[in-house]
Amino acid sequence: MSNRDDVWIWRHFENEDFCVKNVRLTLGRNLDINAAPNAFCWNNWATGKSTTFVWRAIDEKIPSAVALTGRGMLLQDMTCKICGADDENAMHILLRCNFVKRVWEAVSTWTNFPMPNNGNSVTELLQSILECHRSRFIRKILHAIAIQTMWILWRNRNDTIFSGKQRTAQMIIEEVKDTSLQGVRQRSKHNTITKQQWSDFNFNE
Ligand SMILES: [Zn+2]
Repeated sequence: MSNRDDVWIWRHFENEDFCVKNVRLTLGRNLDINAAPNAFCWNNWATGKSTTFVWRAIDEKIPSAVALTGRGMLLQDMTCKICGADDENAMHILLRCNFVKRVWEAVSTWTNFPMPNNGNSVTELLQSILECHRSRFIRKILHAIAIQTMWILWRNRNDTIFSGKQRTAQMIIEEVKDTSLQGVRQRSKHNTITKQQWSDFNFNE
């Protein structure tokens, strides 16, 4: 306490008057202001929860074992609880896990579109869909399916870890088909797509 009037100061610049330039300097030291923003393309045919989740996962901002350890939580080990083959980060949970690869293979077979998973990032996977030589309609469907698949894989991972539920890749793919069809029916004008069309992935465009 002193007899002087109160003044604004900014941390690390206690001897200077408060100014925005110093705030920017401090923030700039802690994060790269010039880094390219996460180039995620939103898709309103997938649920809001699933798109927000994938948007966060791209920047490794989901509570994987590796991310939690990075935030100072003491975990016994960081390995994937599903395959045990590697450390569990977002990339592993969504693309590289041995179990998850089987799901992506099934999605690829169903949609007749190769969902790349080996060594690719979530961004690359989504980008390859948006840039593929299919109609706009199919691209948007594939994009929504990929987002929905990642959300279901994450929920499955949580069920396995916290409730001990073990599901097969086949059960996951059925859920992906059902929920993604629901999403497209409810949120797009294509509300007459039948389950058979969806399952055959064959639409009268
Ligand atoms: Zn795994």
